[in-house]
Amino acid sequence: MGIKVAKFGGSSVADGIQLTKMKNIIEADPARRYIVVSAPGKRFDSDNKITDLLYLCKTHIDHNLPYDQIFQVVADRFMAVEINLGIDVDLTKYFDEIRDNLRKNPSADYIASRGEYLSAILTSAFLGYDFVDTTGLIQFDSKGRLKTEETNQALKAELANHERAVLPGFYGSDPEGNVKTFSRGGSDITGALVARAVEAEVYENWTDVSGFLIADPRIVKNPKQIDVISYKELRELSYMGASVLHEDAIYPARVNNIPINIRNTNDPDDPGTMITDGVREAGCEESERVVTGIAGSKDFTVVALYKNMMSSEKGFVRRILGILDDYDINFEHLPSGIDTVSVVMSNKSIEGQLDEVLDAFQSRLQPDSIDVIQDIALIATVGQRMDRRPGTCAKLFAALADAKVNVRMIDQGSSEMNIIVGVENQDFEKAIHAIYNAFIGE
Ligand code: ASP
Repeated sequence: MGIKVAKFGGSSVADGIQLTKMKNIIEADPARRYIVVSAPGKRFDSDNKITDLLYLCKTHIDHNLPYDQIFQVVADRFMAVEINLGIDVDLTKYFDEIRDNLRKNPSADYIASRGEYLSAILTSAFLGYDFVDTTGLIQFDSKGRLKTEETNQALKAELANHERAVLPGFYGSDPEGNVKTFSRGGSDITGALVARAVEAEVYENWTDVSGFLIADPRIVKNPKQIDVISYKELRELSYMGASVLHEDAIYPARVNNIPINIRNTNDPDDPGTMITDGVREAGCEESERVVTGIAGSKDFTVVALYKNMMSSEKGFVRRILGILDDYDINFEHLPSGIDTVSVVMSNKSIEGQLDEVLDAFQSRLQPDSIDVIQDIALIATVGQRMDRRPGTCAKLFAALADAKVNVRMIDQGSSEMNIIVGVENQDFEKAIHAIYNAFIGE
């Protein structure tokens, strides 16, 4: 029987009720042998995430302010779960150890990681699984970069000794043995690393939504769910702002071709979204949809450079990139025509530097004209099957024209998996509606 790795996010371990749902899910399938947990998240809207409270302790320590009450809130939440579920792991022993360390003003990473640490200790006792700490297994170099291969080997070797185990998400350690965390939401990465190490047949990521939606539900009412999405499509959508999974969680699963299944702890019968390149291997039906997802964000600036005979001037684009590099500006897209190149940047990345950069373009590139278009929203319409369907662009632009949306910029990569349009910020929602209705239906 294959192995399944199941990662449960903050809302899935937020209290005793959620942990009981988690246990039922795990016990329903004996293949779920390795479990990765986040720190408890919010139980209701105005609640606090344990990780946020722990970072708050660190801020208080750094400012010489009392932090005991904040830590007590953290301790009380874990205690309540311990009592509620009738487990006995002597949590006070762990709290004392953490309190001792807090007095020595440890790193923010150490403090933040204790949420996952305590969560995994509690969960392992509740499930009757071994607790396997990730310090020393998930390895970072002295610059804070993950040592992927060493981590894979260390996890493989350790997990071979455990038939069933719970591991804390979010952290590992540096070469000196100090705790080091991933960026926020990083338990997803831990889950993917464990899935890779045990060569899992699937990496299940249990959260509070049933997977990815085709469009943002704040814009489109009740959008349909994405059943299957390829890693590449997901990358394009995440880049444009759709977020359910930490983007660094994709690589470790992808190198070993492990499908990632986003599932809902509150609705375990929903098959969720399957992220995979091998649709058939994962036992999914190939979807007929041309468009897999639509995502976007507002607030971009487009600088359009026009110069007669630009196309025959060597090094023009290289010089543009050199200027951006000098000002440490990241660009998002670089659509070009015969004698034009446009640089698309987020407003944030160019903030406070626009005039200087325009001066540099003017003096170092000597274009015939420079146009600046501000407050542009970018919308990506993503679908791997687009390349095989003539008329996709026609349908998209007809829908935008019908909705009276003025398209200010178009960029389609040669992979033909993604059509990006730039529209005015104020047309953003209208444009997403139009595209959704044209491809997916009302
Ligand atoms: N607890 C951490 C956070 O809130 C990591 C995680 O849940 O993935 O970011």
